[in-house]
Amino acid sequence: EAYRQMPNNYQFYSANMNSQLQERLALESKLRYALQRNELVLYYQPRVDTTTGKIVSVEALLRWQNPELGLVSPAKFIPIAEANGSIVPIGEWVIRTACTQNRLWQESLSQSLRVAVNLSARQLAQLNLVERIASILNETQLNPAYLELEVTESLMMENLEQSIRVLEELRELGVKLALDDFGTGYSSLNYLRRFPIHTLKIDRSFVRDVVSNSHDGAVTNAIITLAKSLDLNITAEGVETQEQCEYVKAQGCHEIQGYYFSPPIPTLAMTALLKKSEKVTNYEDIRNLISS
Ligand code: C2E
Ligand code: MG
Ligand code: MG
Ligand code: MG
Repeated sequence: EAYRQMPNNYQFYSANMNSQLQERLALESKLRYALQRNELVLYYQPRVDTTTGKIVSVEALLRWQNPELGLVSPAKFIPIAEANGSIVPIGEWVIRTACTQNRLWQESLSQSLRVAVNLSARQLAQLNLVERIASILNETQLNPAYLELEVTESLMMENLEQSIRVLEELRELGVKLALDDFGTGYSSLNYLRRFPIHTLKIDRSFVRDVVSNSHDGAVTNAIITLAKSLDLNITAEGVETQEQCEYVKAQGCHEIQGYYFSPPIPTLAMTALLKKSEKVTNYEDIRNLISS
């Protein structure tokens, strides 16, 4: 029986592999023109301050709107862009677009907010990254303190000493730095102390079961205690329910990001939301306002 099944399974497996490879090649060839054809867009997701209920920052999240493929998620195309190097020009476009947009928001809103942008490994390895970012800040006239760059632990560990140096230079420039998806990587606490970061983002895999699973609750509490002792700003990501929101707020998280408040939304929708939320004074208000 086992013998008879094997060739079939094998064929199925290889046909499957083949179609995956073909999908990847098709994506890759289309991705080559995505930037010049204006197919890339940024969505923004709000982060709410737990004490004031204000939207104090937004994370820029890349989307690829292709005429044939529809809206492609970053999980699908960023690894490809990372592998073929196109993440460098794409990443620079993301930073420029987010800074330009934030400058526009500053002009039209009574309060300034930070815009957070994810960096990839290739960008961090780029020799002139700091220079490029300085030039974008200068070009867009955005105060560096209103740009936050997110890196992950695994990204830092790829080339530790060089990455720390780059982050130190970015910090010198005045931009804010965040460690994304914290708790999922391999860095030891000893490294954490050496990263010149301002913010720790607790990965959503911990937040997900924080209320129901005492183990995840304990890990989250430990991360928050650790971050506090290092004087870091703490953001909880992936907050979807009121219970999770209450929990991380009670533990002392500073900012909350997640579907509970809002998914990532297009620029126009975010502008409208920011405008509407100007008068909000607590986080129940902001939640009602968004869902109304
Ligand atoms: P990330 O930086 O950790 O971003 C957070 C992801 O979690 C986003 O997925 C967001 O939509 C999702 N999310 C937010 N709140 C919730 C929630 O309450 N529940 C759940 N289930 N998910 C939530 P997205 O937009 O698909 O992005 C995925 C990843 O792609 C990002 O993870 C980031 O690593 C990468 N990425 C996105 N944009 C860029 C970019 O411009 N450059 C680079 N290098 N990477 C990017
Ligand atoms: Mg991020
Ligand atoms: Mg994250
Ligand atoms: Mg993530």
